[in-house]
Formats: sequence, structure tokens, C-alpha cells
Amino acid sequence: MTSGGDSPGMNGVVRAVVRMAIHMGCDAFAVYEGYEGLVRGGDLIKKMDWDDVRGWLSEGGTLIGTARCMAFYERPGRLTAAKNMVLNGIDALIICGGDGSLTGADKFRSEWPSLLDELVAKGELSKDQTTPYKHLNIVGIVGSIDNDLSGTDATVGCYSALSRICEMVDYIEATASSHSRAFVIEVMGRHCGWLALLAGVATGADFVFIPERPQEHDWRTDMSLVVNRHRKLGKRKTIVIVAEGARDKDGNKISPEEIKDLLSDKTEGGLGLDTRITTLGHVQRGGTAVAYDRLLSTLQGVEAVKAVLEATPETETCFIAINENKIVRKPLMKAVQETQEVAKAVDSKDFEKAMSLRDAEFADQYKSYITTTNVMIEDHKLPEENRMKIGFINVGAPAGGMNAAVRAAVAYCLSRGHEPLAIHNGFAGFARHHGDKPFGAVRPFDWLEVDGWASKGGSEIGTNRELPEESGMELIANLIEQYRFDALFIVGGFEAFHSVSQLRKARDQYPSLCIPICLLPATISNNVPGTEYSLGSDTCLNELVSYCDKIKQSASATRRRVFVIETQGGRCGYVATLSGLSVGASAVYIPEEGISLEMLNADVNHLKDVFQKDRGQSRAGRLILVNEKASKVYDAKLIASIIREEAHDRFESRESIPGHVQQGGVPSPMDRCRAVRLAIKCIQHLEQYGRNAHNRVKKDPDSTSVIGIQSSDVVFTSMELLEEKGTDWANRRPKAAHWLEMRGVVDILGGRPDYPRPE
Ligand code: ATP
Repeated sequence: MTSGGDSPGMNGVVRAVVRMAIHMGCDAFAVYEGYEGLVRGGDLIKKMDWDDVRGWLSEGGTLIGTARCMAFYERPGRLTAAKNMVLNGIDALIICGGDGSLTGADKFRSEWPSLLDELVAKGELSKDQTTPYKHLNIVGIVGSIDNDLSGTDATVGCYSALSRICEMVDYIEATASSHSRAFVIEVMGRHCGWLALLAGVATGADFVFIPERPQEHDWRTDMSLVVNRHRKLGKRKTIVIVAEGARDKDGNKISPEEIKDLLSDKTEGGLGLDTRITTLGHVQRGGTAVAYDRLLSTLQGVEAVKAVLEATPETETCFIAINENKIVRKPLMKAVQETQEVAKAVDSKDFEKAMSLRDAEFADQYKSYITTTNVMIEDHKLPEENRMKIGFINVGAPAGGMNAAVRAAVAYCLSRGHEPLAIHNGFAGFARHHGDKPFGAVRPFDWLEVDGWASKGGSEIGTNRELPEESGMELIANLIEQYRFDALFIVGGFEAFHSVSQLRKARDQYPSLCIPICLLPATISNNVPGTEYSLGSDTCLNELVSYCDKIKQSASATRRRVFVIETQGGRCGYVATLSGLSVGASAVYIPEEGISLEMLNADVNHLKDVFQKDRGQSRAGRLILVNEKASKVYDAKLIASIIREEAHDRFESRESIPGHVQQGGVPSPMDRCRAVRLAIKCIQHLEQYGRNAHNRVKKDPDSTSVIGIQSSDVVFTSMELLEEKGTDWANRRPKAAHWLEMRGVVDILGGRPDYPRPE
């Protein structure tokens, strides 16, 4: 069942739950129109087949409908609902909705035995009828665009809504800048400022108003100060993002009109800006789900089915959460209570408590926002002797979020009094263009320029694949000495990882390299050891998902066609597998597994079966994803040819290669927000070593490290450890791949046949 407000990704939940349930040997039912369907029964409770949910991943909203149901608030409504469940033979409920829907579900479960007794007492059902349904298992999945439930970092739909908001803000910025205007943008969030805050971080907004954290002083003075400072630094545009539920420190609502009045105040001392208000409204809910929501909904749907099957009468009702990168089960009512406490804390103006009840990411992002907007304020600065000279360098292919990372790190450095310097065009640029001023490779950052990089794709400081040894280690070491760098902040993919390794190993020979070095992984291939996530990989998945959606549509227009799509990723099957999961691919081929004739044979036979069953009725095309290095022989073209030949005109097959489109245009908000958060953590990590740390650094393995998201934590891992234990150097990828187990989910949900797999 989907219930409460709709959110993108709910269809993904339904698809995953239906197919996983069928796979596990259960009957799956869709309850249409939320609790209304459960109370009214009849046609609103429908048994679902495997094919009923085909193509649902790429549909927005919820196809089984949702509604607010007054009857379910009352016991008689829940009594009828219980009767309808028993009559349909339903003994477990997986529900995707907000905290209200989940509270209703928990109440239903706790009342269940008494509801059955009452039905028997009233003669509506017999004892025999109710006996098999003694226990009701319920599992919740949080579907909400607000991301307002405590205990989970993300709810199904929140990143899609965030993407829509950021897209709109990006559009508005262009016109704001052209006319030197100010815009006040109102976004959803009555009790939760997640959307407003993350949109502010992702777009580099000047000011953000959220319910949980009002300005400590008068908001009017605070905002005027920041906007004025930004304008004085030369900014031509002003963007203020306000959550619906924003309040001042006294609990009074802050309206967009009030903000506009202040920004446009033309009296003496006023800002006098030409200001417009844009209320985004329901576009925030609209559209198809982004890749992240498709993954989240699919993985959580699968987990929910497992949870329901494993539950005993004693098991506490749980919901499926995600913490950083780990899908976990958590007690439902604790999360609901904490969520309600946030609203209460806001109402009673206990804002410290409201913030503390939000998750760690929220608090981090709040700090990120403060850091990136309040640059150049004296009171955050370190004492003179602790200020460092930090070199910034991008290595390898560009990836979404690189610029956002550099921007945030620069802002943080300035706020602390460090001196950030851009080393242009990687190690190659450093080695070849030193000294030829004014176009030398090393230049100070211009804050005004950098501030415009929040949403820019590519690499503004330039990037290059060359490793330090290729550029000449001695030269690099001399340059580091010459420029007196106290630390290096490197953003990039596997080449960047390899570069840091080379620099570390050369430390004995070149003492100038004994400075702290930190790598922030950024590559669409997501193949950097030490992290489960690299900047740019989310942007890449989104590009692939929208590419595949278009291809799938064209394939379904001509009906019986299979597209074989070649993805990038080097020798790492991450993007192929996760985009396969996000689009519902029939098969995914990855280098970790290789491709055998046996696999091709089984997959071709499977396709023959499904097209045979369709008998020309299906409107959905089929997709196969193959990583560029999955096999030396079977590439996308050959696989498509084999399928075409074997299909004997019963269906068609074509290959399609998206190529560099996968690097993406505008980076996704997730990549941008994570870039900001992780980049600031990197500089904080470097900062602990202080200026002239050469002797201390040499003995400290953590002084060359990689920041990463591992399971539910953000961690720094030493390069030494990763070089020895974590890296498959021959294949340029980590030794352990957290995502490999997702292959099984792609196969199950795609209905792919079982065949022996290499370990
Ligand atoms: P959103 O976050 O979009 O508001 P929600 O799930 O919180 O989603 P609600 O309108 O609060 O949305 O709840 C949806 C439905 O869940 C209600 O119409 C009602 O049928 C049921 N429901 C909510 N709260 C309860 C409750 N305390 N007891 C029984 N049923 C409830």
C-alpha cells in the first residue's frame, strides 16, 4: 500500500515488493487508494502478477493511488479493514507512506488480535476463518518528499524533490544574474527544513530559512548582513531559500513576502534589490524518480519483504531505513515519536533539541551552509601560526561535484584563515607550467569566481590523468617545496588514488612530500578503494537512467526490441549494476563476473520466453546493460547481434553506447551536497596537522588518507592500509565491492534465470 502524500519512487517500492514477494513464493496484493482501499475492499484490493508492475520504475507518483482516509482513524474503519484483509487471505502489510500512515499501521497491528475477536464475536467472520491470521506483520517504508522521518538519512522521494528544486533554482539563477535580481524561493517543508537546507547547499544560495534552526539574533539583521557582504564582494544575484515552515526565534512564521520586503527596501541603509518571489509548489512532487530514489525504493522494497517473512509475533514493528549507505531495519514507533518530537520542539521553541533530533548529516549540512555562505568572517579564523597553505589539485577525468568540492573547501579555508591555492590541470599542469606567470599553474582562488561553481559540471581548475611519476617526482617534490605547501587536497578517481600512493611512497626520498595529503574520491566509475561512493557516480547514474528511459520508450514504441547498452566504469561494474537496478534491466554484464557463452545462452532463452509470453502485447522494451570491459570479446554490438540472430525475427535487438554523456552535465544535488560535506571534512582533517608538520607527518600513516563513505559511516582510511589490503591494482578497483550483492536483486527483479556464477 502507498499512503499519505505521493512521492517519486513509490512505484519502485510496489514493483520491488510485488516481484520479491512472488519470488519468495508469496501472493502479492496491491491495496489501491491507501487505507481507503483497505476499508472499502472489493476491487481496491487486487492480486498482482509479475507483469503487472513492468515499467513502473520509470513512472512518477504512485500508480496504485493514495488517499487520506478518515475512516481508518476510527476503530470501526480498522475493523472493516481487518475483515477485508482476512477475506483476501492477507497476513502481512508493507506500507509506504509518511509518519501518519506508519502510525496508523502500528496501531492496526497492535489492535489486530482484538479486531479479529470482535469480528468473530459479531459473527462477521468465523473462528476458523480468523485462526490462520492470528498475527499481523507490518513493515514500513518511508515515502515522503520532505525527508522528515527521524532515524533514516533519506526517505523515498526526497532526492527526486531536491533535484527538481535545484533544477528550478539553477534556471532562476541565470535570470537573477542577468538582471542582478534577488529571488526568494519557497520550498516544501512544514516541520522539516531538509529540502530547503540541502537546496541551499547544492545551489550555493545566499541565505536559507528552516524551521529547526532560526537565526539566533534578529533574522532581518543577519540576512541583510550576509546579502550585503556578498553583494559587496561583487555577486550579481541573491538567492534566498525559505521552507514553508520557517520561523523566527520567537516562533513567528517568516513569510516570503517579509523577506522580499526586506531585500527590496529602498530606504536609506536598505538593500534596495529588485526582488521576486517564486513558490515552487507541486512541481516538487512531480516527475519521475531520480536514480537514488529508484535504488532506495528497490532495495528497501526487497528488504521489507525479507523483514515481513522473518518477523515473529514478538518482533517489534520495524521500518526500513538507510544510514549513509547501509539499509537497516529500525523500530518504527521510536522513529515516529522522535519525528513528532521535532515538531513539538519547534513549536516550543526548543531549537537545540529540534536540531539534535535530526540526523548527523543534517547537522553537518547546516554547518556546511554556514561555512560556505559566511566566508571571510574574522571570528572563525585560526591563530596566525596555525594557518596553512593548501594546494588544490584535480586528477583524472572530470566528475560531477568536483567544482562543488573545491568551492566548499576554498570557502572553509578562507573562513579559517588558510591560504588555498589552485594547482591547475593536475600534476601535468603543475610540472609544465610553473613559473610562466601570469598563466602559471598555481594561482590563488578568486572567491567571487569560485562561489559560482556550486552547480557547475566538469573541473574549473582543470584536471589531468598524468601521475606524479610521469610528470617527474623530483620536479613535483621541488615545486611543493618551492611553493611551501603545508598540505595537498586532491579530488579525483583511481588516478588520483594512484598519485597519492606514489607521493606517499616517495616521501623517504623527498622530505618535502612529508605533508598531509587527503583524497576526496570523484569518479563516475566509483572504483576508488576506501569508499563505497565517489563524487560523480550519482550524476552518472542519473544520466544513464534518463538515457535508458528514453531508449526504453523508443523500444516499446516499436514493441519487441531489446537494447544492449554499453556503460563506462573501467573494470568496475558499479554503474552498470546500479543503473540496471534503477531501470529494471533484464541482464547486466560486469567485468567482475565476465561473460560466458552459457550466460548469453540462458539470457537469450529467457528473452525468447518473455517475448513469447507477451505475444506482442507488451509496451515495454527490454534493456541489457554491459560494462565496457565486461569481456574482451562480447561487446554490446556482438551481444546485440547474437540476440538478433537467435531471435529469428520474433524480436529485434540493437546496441547503444551513451559514451561521455555519462559524465553528466549539471552535477546531481546529491553529488553537490556530498561534495560540500566531504570536502569540508577533508580540510578539517588536514588542518589538524597544522603548519610545517613535516616531522610529525612522516610517522603518521593517516597523514595520507582517503575520505569515504563506508556502510553507515564517513571515515578516513590511511593510504598505506588501502595500498596493501584494499586495492586490486591490476583491475584498478577496490578488492571488496559492497555493491556486488545487488547483482542478485537485479536478477531476481528482472526475472533473470539462475545459472552458475563465478564466485
Ligand atoms: P505525509 O508525510 O505525506 O503527510 P502521512 O502518511 O504522514 O504522509 P497522513 O495524512 O498523516 O499522511 O496519513 C495518511 C493516512 O494514514 C490518513 O489519512 C489515515 O488514514 C492514516 N492515519 C494517519 N494517522 C493515523 C492514526 N494515528 N491512526 C490511524 N490511522 C492513521
